Amino acid sequence: MTAKIIDGKALAETLRAELAEKAAALKATQGITPCLAVILVGEDPASAVYVKNKVAACEKAGFRSIKETYPANVEPMVVLGKIAALNADPSVHGILVQLPLPKQFDAEAVLEAISPEKDVDGFHVENVGALMQGNPRFVPCTPYGVMQMLKTENVPLKGAEAVIVGRSNIVGKPMAMLLLAESCTVTICHSRTKDLAFHTRRADILVAAVGQPKMITGDMIKPGATVIDVGINRTPEGKLCGDVDFESAKEVAGLITPVPGGVGPMTITMLLANTLEAAERTLG
Ligand code: NDP
Repeated sequence: MTAKIIDGKALAETLRAELAEKAAALKATQGITPCLAVILVGEDPASAVYVKNKVAACEKAGFRSIKETYPANVEPMVVLGKIAALNADPSVHGILVQLPLPKQFDAEAVLEAISPEKDVDGFHVENVGALMQGNPRFVPCTPYGVMQMLKTENVPLKGAEAVIVGRSNIVGKPMAMLLLAESCTVTICHSRTKDLAFHTRRADILVAAVGQPKMITGDMIKPGATVIDVGINRTPEGKLCGDVDFESAKEVAGLITPVPGGVGPMTITMLLANTLEAAERTLG
């Protein structure tokens, strides 16, 4: 059996076209242009690429974007001051701080400084709590994108065994909450999990969010399972790859996301969706 590939790039393009239309309508009817402010601290090349892609996606969809960049040695007070100014600016609807931050920063304090109403990444503790209670204000973009893919592909969720490998605050934990809200039976695995394959082989839906190139192999997958690969890694040859060994996994899975062209494009799309929603909410 060869799995059907979930084309995240194509789905992202469709959704971005819809978001662009809604943004144009908001501008035409209410005079509001959705605006995302992105803060980048330091010179991490991966972060710079992510920020560039986010700003480009905003522009393409007709959103306004503000990019604030600071050197790695900037005083945290300077960045906190900028966040306060952006919080107070009614023309700015979404604010995100690109992670990771340099050592002198208390990343949690920075995330808490963003107004929860503008926290389009969904990382503010208030928004994390709302998600946990099943009443989310902003769903973190990567798991939000994964849910869109599962729903578009009509993957049965109710009662499904969902196994997530990775328990980070930005992917694994919110992913678990979203699948639980859809009545999946959720297992979260991590670096201390004994016998990872025992868990992954039980999964109807397997989400890999680890950061270890190709660690989930075909023999760890239940035949016919839906496999979502969140990982973004580089092979020793410098090629992009996921946490799933795509070649062996696609022979066993029923549905599978590729890397690149899977979850990655969906993440930025859901950032646009959250920013548009924040802008629409200002209408009351
Ligand atoms: P983190 O490093 O924050 O978390 C990784 C998780 O994987 C941890 O919970 C860790 O366990 C677990 N883990 C590590 N090694 C193993 C192992 N051998 N067996 C089982 N579990 C293990 O990563 P993120 O969640 O931020 O990101 C995960 C991956 O997803 C990365 O490749 C990242 O680049 C990518 N990513 C992709 C995005 C996209 O848009 N496609 C967006 C965000 C991330 P423990 O907690 O015990 O340490």
